[in-house]
Amino acid sequence: MATAVTNGHPVNGDTAYPNEVNFERVQIIDNEKQFTPHLTQQVERWGLQNAGFDYDIVAVFGSQSTGKSTLLNRLFGTDFDVMDETKRQQTTKGIWMCRGKGMNVMVMDVEGTDGRERGEDQDFERKSALFSMASSEVLIVNLWEHQVGLYQGANMGLLKTVFEVNLGLFGKKTPDGRNSRTLLLFVIRDHIGTTPLANLEATLTADIQKIWESLSKPTELKDRQLSDYFDLSFAALPHKVLAADKFELEIQELRRRFVDKSRDDYVFKPSYHKRIPADGVAFYMDGIWEQVQTNKDLDLPTQQELLAQFRCDEISAAALAEFNEQAKPQRRPVEAGKVVEGLGSMMRNWRSGALTRYDKDASRYHQGVYKRKRADLVAVLDSTLSPLFLGQLKNLHKSSLVTFKQEMHEGMKGEGYNFADVVTRLREQCEKSFLEGAKEALVEETDWTYEDEFALLKEEMKSIADQFRKDETKKMVNIIERNFKRQISEPVDLCLNKPTAEMWDNILKTFRETLDKAEASYLAKAKSFNCTEQENTTALAILRKRAWLALRSKIDEQTSDASFLAKLRTHFEERFRYDDKGVPRVWTPEDDIDGAFKKAKDEALTLIPLYSKISPTDASLEYTLPSETSDSLTQDLDDFDFPSTLIILSETKTLDITNRFRKDVDAYYVEAKRSTVSSIAQ
Ligand code: GDP
Ligand code: MG
Repeated sequence: MATAVTNGHPVNGDTAYPNEVNFERVQIIDNEKQFTPHLTQQVERWGLQNAGFDYDIVAVFGSQSTGKSTLLNRLFGTDFDVMDETKRQQTTKGIWMCRGKGMNVMVMDVEGTDGRERGEDQDFERKSALFSMASSEVLIVNLWEHQVGLYQGANMGLLKTVFEVNLGLFGKKTPDGRNSRTLLLFVIRDHIGTTPLANLEATLTADIQKIWESLSKPTELKDRQLSDYFDLSFAALPHKVLAADKFELEIQELRRRFVDKSRDDYVFKPSYHKRIPADGVAFYMDGIWEQVQTNKDLDLPTQQELLAQFRCDEISAAALAEFNEQAKPQRRPVEAGKVVEGLGSMMRNWRSGALTRYDKDASRYHQGVYKRKRADLVAVLDSTLSPLFLGQLKNLHKSSLVTFKQEMHEGMKGEGYNFADVVTRLREQCEKSFLEGAKEALVEETDWTYEDEFALLKEEMKSIADQFRKDETKKMVNIIERNFKRQISEPVDLCLNKPTAEMWDNILKTFRETLDKAEASYLAKAKSFNCTEQENTTALAILRKRAWLALRSKIDEQTSDASFLAKLRTHFEERFRYDDKGVPRVWTPEDDIDGAFKKAKDEALTLIPLYSKISPTDASLEYTLPSETSDSLTQDLDDFDFPSTLIILSETKTLDITNRFRKDVDAYYVEAKRSTVSSIAQ
């Protein structure tokens, strides 16, 4: 179990910290060799979670009861347990960590019994030493002066083992080609002074070098030098009790080597830093402990990758959550069909905001993992934005079409507009506004495109314009047809009331002339409609047929039973009841009533064949139309059989009319006869 103890030591270099920052220690590895789950929290409580790379880690190595905890407490203002003088027995075991006061340093202290007697403790001793070496930048090797040169007494055997396993586990280069370097800082305790520090240094250096050479190294690392991985540095401290003042002075001096970056012998050189951001330290250390514990043949880069995966995922998820929060409110309006003003700039902001947040925290981790996770994040961001983009395009498309239609109606109000000009102007306007909106919605670095939607829009505008043109063309044909009817009405009436042999010639001539004018007026208008050849052909066909039918209905009107009978009667009467000079006849018994009657009747009867069929005397005036058309526009004219339209009166009709006419005129005959009888009687 991890425990935390509040620190009460007043320490030099103590500065003001925010209230929430504390300096309580935490047991990162407990008696059961479990790594604490609380280290991340603790790093936060120490106020270091945002330190990035701006922090250091130091650990200590050395025999039991050599004053290690005392040294750390003095150097860093920590409050690691110091052995109780009266008991001289240490019972707890484990690794503790504390933040140094006045400095961004995480300090680790190893506690435990000397492991030489018991195998179990040896295991912990070895593992804790390996862990300290692998995870810290500076490893303080603490030893009494009299231990110098004593292989066994100075824990040199342990050091050999630790070097060996450390090389096996963590000795490979990091992917960026750096060796993970560590400073071994030898602190010689109870230095009396008779042997100068330089001599002690030489002895220790030689010993360590010997140990290094005796290591059984992995084959691929067999040529590696001690200096490839470690720098050696030295310090000596006088006796804490016997030379208390001097001890204090030297401690302060040593402390400065941990604080003052300007010194040549400043210990926390950048090359020792493990390049793990402070907020990832807990996870990183847990991983190292895991490897040390299970002795897995993993190396630091892999460990760094695992850490990077874990942290980059966390950072990415946080960035994504905020991004989703921002994007969410715009989803509904887009789905509801609204063109959201400035959506593109919003999307670009959300996206770059999320990536900036990710980059800020994640870029400090393993570069390969950082980049891979970034690409994943980009893919998720873009897959969230893409439907918004597509929705916006769809809505732009729809609203552009609506505007286009409205403006078409607007543009064709009143007279005197040029259809083609209206369409061109509106199409350009509509395309421009669509493109502006679509370009605004684009997000850089994506493969998004609006070309398809744009092509579709253009196609639909074209079909709308075509529909408008068809409707307009129809309307125009209708107007021309009405004018045509008006124009032929009177002349045809006149002709039909003058039953001469050239009657049909005159009618057809009028028809031709009027139709020619109508066609010309259609073609003039059609030009401004940009009508196609095909459309013109169809429209003219319709116009011709309707004109013909208009003529036919005019003729039908004049040749209905009643009006035709009236025509025949008038013709007859003019000849029977009036003389050549137009004077009404008064019949006398001498008059040849029978002869006059027959002549007038026969003459009137000649009108029947004349009216019954449209047949000009001049064959060049004969008019003809194709009977069949396939165009849907002329559907109203299907079942149109031109030759039959030339027949005005059918045979039965002719017979019927003839009979009725005979009966009618018989009455005139009787009346004429009676008038002579009555004149005799008078
Ligand atoms: P550690 O647990 O092995 O790191 O050692 P401690 O810091 O608990 O100290 C063990 C004992 O050595 C305590 O009784 C300390 O008072 C004493 N001690 C600490 N520093 C020194 C020193 O520099 N010289 C001597 N002679 N004794 C010391
Ligand atoms: Mg201790």
